[in-house]
Amino acid sequence: MTQRMMDAIVKPIAGVGLELRRVPVPVPGPGEVLIKVHKTAICGTDVHIYDWTPWSAEHVKPPMVIGHEYVGEIAELGAGVTGLQVGMRVSGEGHITCGHCRNCHTGNIQWCKNTTSVGVDRNGAFAEYVCIPASGRGRGLLLRRLRQRHPHGPHVQPGG
Ligand SMILES: [Zn+2]
Ligand SMILES: [Zn+2]
Repeated sequence: MTQRMMDAIVKPIAGVGLELRRVPVPVPGPGEVLIKVHKTAICGTDVHIYDWTPWSAEHVKPPMVIGHEYVGEIAELGAGVTGLQVGMRVSGEGHITCGHCRNCHTGNIQWCKNTTSVGVDRNGAFAEYVCIPASGRGRGLLLRRLRQRHPHGPHVQPGG
C-alpha cells in the first residue's frame, strides 16, 4: 500500500526557520479523528517556534509539523469514535489532556500533567490534514463542531 503524502509546514531541525515539506498523511488511531484543514491562523507560539526562542528549543523536538489554530472538516474517523461524522465542520483544542491523571479526573484539565500541545510536541495543523483525539471522558472538549452558518468559522482561540 502506498502511503498518502501531504504538504506541511515543518520545523525541520533545531534552529531558526520553517520548511514546506511532503510528509505522510496521519492515520487516525482508535478514538482519533483525521481533519482536513481548511483555514489556519498564526499564533504567537508559531512565531516563537519560527524564531527558535529558548522556549521553543525546550519544547519542540524537530521534525515537527507546527500550527494549532484551524478550522476544517472531518475526513476520517478512527475506531470507536461515535457522535461525529465525516464532513462535519470542526475545530480542535490546542491542548490534548490525558484523561487519566488526578487533575483530569477532578475536572481541572488545564493542570493535566501529561498535556501535549498540537503543533508543539505533537504534529500540528499547518498541513493538509491533522489528527487529534475526539472528545472523550476527562479530556474536555478536544473537538468542537462549528455551526454551519459561520461561513469562515469563528475566530477560535481554543486555549492558547
Ligand atoms: Zn491528565
Ligand atoms: Zn495559539
